[in-house]
Amino acid sequence: MRAWLIALILLAMNSSLANAQGEPELIARKDRKVIYITWDGFRWQEMFGGAQEILIAKDAGVADVDGVKRRYWRETDDERRETLLPFMWKTIAKRGQIFGDPSKNAAAKLENTHKFSYPGYSEMFCGFADDKGIDSNKKVPNPHVNVLEFLNRRPGFEQRVAAIATWDVFPSILNQQRSGVYVNAGIVPIPGDSLTDRERLLNEMISDTVVLWPDNQIDVITMQVAREYLLKHKPRVLFIGLGETDEWAHARRYDRYLHAANRADAFTAKLWELLQSLPEYKDQTSLVLACDHGRGNTIRDWTDHGAKIEGAEFIWSAVLGPDTPAMGVRSDVSATLSQIAATLATLVGEDFRAASPKSAAPLPDVISASMAQ
Ligand SMILES: [Zn+2]
Repeated sequence: MRAWLIALILLAMNSSLANAQGEPELIARKDRKVIYITWDGFRWQEMFGGAQEILIAKDAGVADVDGVKRRYWRETDDERRETLLPFMWKTIAKRGQIFGDPSKNAAAKLENTHKFSYPGYSEMFCGFADDKGIDSNKKVPNPHVNVLEFLNRRPGFEQRVAAIATWDVFPSILNQQRSGVYVNAGIVPIPGDSLTDRERLLNEMISDTVVLWPDNQIDVITMQVAREYLLKHKPRVLFIGLGETDEWAHARRYDRYLHAANRADAFTAKLWELLQSLPEYKDQTSLVLACDHGRGNTIRDWTDHGAKIEGAEFIWSAVLGPDTPAMGVRSDVSATLSQIAATLATLVGEDFRAASPKSAAPLPDVISASMAQ
C-alpha cells in the first residue's frame, strides 16, 4: 500500500515537472498565427533585381515599352526592386528575412526536378520532393500528409486552417477530402448561406468576370475572398495562392507579369496592415512568402519552366513576424522549397518533422534563439 502511494506521488511530481517545463513554450506560442502567400512562378531575377532591361521589349510582349520603362525601370538593382515590390523591400527586407539572393551566396532551390506547379506545391507543403509519385499537374489526391493537414489536427488549430487560391488543383494538392482543411480554389463561389454584403458582391464578380483562364481565378478576387474569410473566420493558419505572375509569363506578357507582381506586393502590404489593425493578429502573426518554381533566364524561355528549362529550379522565400530576427537579405545560406512546411509549423510553435520525419528542417534562424524549441 505504502509503495503504491509513493509511486503515485512520484508520478504526480513527475507530471507537474513536465508541465513546468512545457508551459513557458506553450504560453509563448499559444496565440501565434501564420499567413502564407505564394506568387506562382515569380522569378528570383525580378525579386532581387526588379524589372529586367532585356525583357522590357516588344519581343517579351510589352505593349507600351516607354510606359513600362517609366513605371518600373530605374538605374540600380536596389531602386528597381523597390519600385516593383515596395512592401517586400521597404518592410520585409528591413524587418524580416529574404532567402534566395544568388549574389549573396544564398541561391535557393527546388528539390524536385520537375520544376512545375504541383510538384513544387507538394514539396513546400509536405516538406520533401517525391519525383516519382508527384509528376503531373493532374487533379490526383496527394498521398502525402501536408503541413496544413497536420496543423488542422493539432489542439488549438482544429478548423482554424484554411487555403484560398486562384488555381483549381489545390483541393487535390492539399488532399482536401482527407485533410479536412477548408480549401476554396479556382473559379468557384464563396459557399454558405449567411454571406456578408461583400461576400455576395464577390460572388457576383466571380460569376460575371471574364474568364481569362478556366482553371485560374484572377488574383484580385482570390485576395478579396481571402480577406473576407480572415475577417469572418479568424483562422490561425491561412494560405493564399496567387497565380497571375505565372499566367502572364506563359502568355509572354512581361508588362502584365510585372504588374501582377506589383499588385501581389500591394495585396500583401494591405493584408499586413489589416492584420496589424486586428487585436487577434497584431504582433502575433508571421507572414511567409514563396514561389513554387522559377523560370528560364533568356528572352526566349523566361516565359517557361519545367525539367528542361535551365534555371527554373531557383526560387526565393521571405519571412516577417514577431519571432523573426531582422536579418534582411540572407547571405551564405542554402535554402530549399522543402523547408517551407516545417517553417510554417515552427512559427506557430508546432513540430511538423515529429509527425513527418521526411520533412526538411525549418529555414535557418527565422526564429530567434530564445524562442526556438
Ligand atoms: Zn506555369
